[in-house]
Amino acid sequence: MTSVIQVSAIIRVRGSKLNLWLYQRNRTLPDLVRSCTFCLVHGINSPKHLILDCPTLVGLASVEAYLLWRRSIFYQVGVLHPPICYLCHQPQGTEGVLHPPFDGNPEHCRFRDMVAPLVYGVLTKPTLRMDAQIYFPSADLSTPMTAIDWINGMPIPGNPSNLIALFMWYCRNHL
Ligand SMILES: [Zn+2]
Ligand SMILES: [Zn+2]
Repeated sequence: MTSVIQVSAIIRVRGSKLNLWLYQRNRTLPDLVRSCTFCLVHGINSPKHLILDCPTLVGLASVEAYLLWRRSIFYQVGVLHPPICYLCHQPQGTEGVLHPPFDGNPEHCRFRDMVAPLVYGVLTKPTLRMDAQIYFPSADLSTPMTAIDWINGMPIPGNPSNLIALFMWYCRNHL
């Protein structure tokens, strides 16, 4: 296991804020690959299924509401955001180290249906949503749709997007 000191050294040597996120991602995401992250957030231990097939989503919200929310996510590449995949919400990274070139084929997304369903889970679970609201005071997390302005806005330093910032907040505190 890598120690905190070793990790600090890795981050310092690489010298990039995105690499801090890369480290956290590589530590966290493989554990999530086998789960439905929306179910996970809502306390249901379920094997992986695509979000559109998620029984918890159907029971708590609706697939249509989720899709409307997800389609409202917009990245200003080159202005506020690095290139980010609209299918899985992973950034491409320098020379594609984090994600292969975007070709619209979801089969090429290594971490498909992970980030956005998890964040939607947080935003539809009142206790978590209120905790996140305290941590991210500049966001309006009253509902998934009111959170969109913040999600699409200037990322908190060290994060490629605020969707990722909220995702990592959950991973740090609840996994
Ligand atoms: Zn599910
Ligand atoms: Zn992708």
